[in-house]
Amino acid sequence: MTACFLCGKDIEGKITKEHIFGDAFLGEYNLKEKKMNYGGKAEIEYSRLKVPAHHSCNSETGSRFEEYILSIIKNISLNLDVMRELHTPQHSKTAACVKEVLCQWLVKIYLGLSYWELSRINHPNKEYQHLLNEVIQTPLTGYLQTCFSNEYTFNCPSSLYYFSVPYDSDHDINFDFATRHDVGGAYIKFGPHLLVATLADARLVEHWFNDSLYESVQTLITNETESDAAAYLLAVGHVWAVREYLPIEPKLEFTENSIIDTSRDGYDLAPEIDGKAVNRRAIELRNEMVERFLGQP
Ligand SMILES: [Zn+2]
Repeated sequence: MTACFLCGKDIEGKITKEHIFGDAFLGEYNLKEKKMNYGGKAEIEYSRLKVPAHHSCNSETGSRFEEYILSIIKNISLNLDVMRELHTPQHSKTAACVKEVLCQWLVKIYLGLSYWELSRINHPNKEYQHLLNEVIQTPLTGYLQTCFSNEYTFNCPSSLYYFSVPYDSDHDINFDFATRHDVGGAYIKFGPHLLVATLADARLVEHWFNDSLYESVQTLITNETESDAAAYLLAVGHVWAVREYLPIEPKLEFTENSIIDTSRDGYDLAPEIDGKAVNRRAIELRNEMVERFLGQP
């Protein structure tokens, strides 16, 4: 039996397929015909990245959500002040709303890609594929699916960063994304925009990857992009490295009606993070991600 990635329940009867990246989004960024390289020589058009979903989940909830996302994305450039406060602890109500929706979008991509990879017959990495089986059974997955199927607001405490990436449509990387399950990581770069998240981290990353570090990483990307088109991956590497080296582990309990966060219990002062190890790891992660581009046109 095939399961619906949006609600997690089995699909009886007719199976429809939902785009991982909405059709309208792909159209907006001229990506419909573009191909993704996913290891070896295998390629697939972005528009063919689809996963099984119930007809009702797909056409009602799914479409409304995609329209909403697109309306936010189209206005990012006009609302950079809001985008730049997504990660700050005391952000405005507007930023909080935008953050919730963008996090939910990243989780939908995170889940969609997990289900899609799970269904691949000749996956190049069987061990990783096996791990995905566990990913889709975590409380986070169940919580997200409840949010989608009941149209609840998504309010899982996560860290989210927006970076502006200098962008020249003739030369630069228009579209890129990846997920990393051990850190709840997801990022997406489209045109001049980069979103980096650590999902369900109880907003702990925001504490150590604070506003002053954010400003310096943003400056670094702005300065380096001219000589290195993949400089934005330094930001991704840095956020994910902080998540790996967090001195406190996120402790979230997902109950029927709420999420209980006990991560900070017992800490009056936040312990220090190993800054040197984070910097080293950030560069390692960046280099790992750059390797995916090797051998591609
Ligand atoms: Zn469903």
